[in-house]
Amino acid sequence: MAVVTPDEFRQHGHALIDWIADYTEGVEQYPVASQVQPGDIRAMLPEHPPAHAEPFADVLADLDRVVMPGITHWQHPSFFAYFPGNGSYPAILGDLAASGLGVQGMSWVTSPACTEMETLMVDWMQELLGLPDHFRSTSATGGGVIQGSASEATLASILAARWRATGGSINAMGDTTHLVAYATSQAHSSIEKGLRIAGIGTSQVRIVPHDESFAMRVDELDCLVRDDLAAGLTPFWVCASRGTTSSMAFDPTPAIAAVARREHMWLHVDAAMSGIGALAPELRWINDGLELADSYCTNPHKWMGVNFDCDLFYTADRGSLLGALSILPEYLRSAAAEAGAVIDYRDWQVPLGRRFRSLKLWFAIRSGGVEQAVEMIRRHVTLTQELAEWAAADPRFEVVAPHPLNLLCVRLRDGDAATDALIERANATGRALFTRTVLDGMVACRISVGGRTTDRRHVAAAWALLQELAG
Ligand SMILES: *Cc1c(COP(=O)(O)O)cnc(C)c1O
Repeated sequence: MAVVTPDEFRQHGHALIDWIADYTEGVEQYPVASQVQPGDIRAMLPEHPPAHAEPFADVLADLDRVVMPGITHWQHPSFFAYFPGNGSYPAILGDLAASGLGVQGMSWVTSPACTEMETLMVDWMQELLGLPDHFRSTSATGGGVIQGSASEATLASILAARWRATGGSINAMGDTTHLVAYATSQAHSSIEKGLRIAGIGTSQVRIVPHDESFAMRVDELDCLVRDDLAAGLTPFWVCASRGTTSSMAFDPTPAIAAVARREHMWLHVDAAMSGIGALAPELRWINDGLELADSYCTNPHKWMGVNFDCDLFYTADRGSLLGALSILPEYLRSAAAEAGAVIDYRDWQVPLGRRFRSLKLWFAIRSGGVEQAVEMIRRHVTLTQELAEWAAADPRFEVVAPHPLNLLCVRLRDGDAATDALIERANATGRALFTRTVLDGMVACRISVGGRTTDRRHVAAAWALLQELAG
């Protein structure tokens, strides 16, 4: 292998930073969704790996020639699909610094700064989001950790709950046949997946009916729980979604918590998308009931200008989490850990290895600034409310779900086929990108307003496009 010299690294690195800045500033020139067909990207590349090193300039040129056509532009201001995945310059640099250091943060001793920075960042975020103190690392029984994704956080929550419900013994953990979990049909797919991984099959998952706002009906939860108890089963885990993926519905956490408390069920609150909204003090209602939750997650990698991956996971019961996930092989022993003086985050997650993710959060908070994130969140919420007014004023459209934050679901009164055709035609223009969903059997178009640079003109153009194509 040819050795890349430090001078070459500097030169390539500067070129790549320029490339990223040019991309970011010029992203609007691209069609939002990639236009390629399956196999197109691979066909542009040699089938076999090169035998010898090639000039970096050639690699960079192929980034434009080969990779760019296959990119769907999540940083595009007219990206209204899925959910936001907005990045920002400071976070990109923080991630680069983490790559440069190349440390593994599985234990405190493997790089003390990696652990201590992460603990401080989750505590800073607890404070910035106005989360209850029982999630703070300095609390008696709780604490936070950065996970790669909300799916991993949810799985960790389920494993902790399983440990607690099976008497806190790793031997008892095998018997999960009597455990029952609860969520609505609107909960994220990662909930069913996590339960399945934990040995809780579909027959042990209860789909709790929702109301017309797509939020959990707690009277129905209560009935299901009582039926399961009467059948000799053990309700062990319930998920309250604060901002569902499909329509951004908000399950009533305090009432769910009352049922959970009564039956000693673990309450997990999934606010992966919307939780970051609580950075704005007037949106703190998102946190209602969290003081009664056993665990909570939200994603800076969705709505805070922090590039993937960065999920905040908090628990009020770290003992159960550590009980479920601690393993101590000889080669990971350390005096500091044995004295109980430090945190070893490997025991808070499924994988052993972990990246220095807190750096990008630290860079984003210090160099990007929290006011900027709050300003962005407020802009998205305001634009969504304005968009809802435009939609309500057009008799061809109907708004099909409450829209307190930055997601609007609309459909054509002409029905499912017309709505499907509209989404397909709008997306094919490349001028904006929307996602289809089905709400209570009805097709709807999700308009998720969350680009870092998304402004009024982008939302207005997206709406004009939908109106134009609605016929
Ligand atoms: C996006 C989302 C998830 C999944 O998040 P990942 O970090 O991609 O695993 C889970 N729940 C909700 C409510 C979400 O919006």
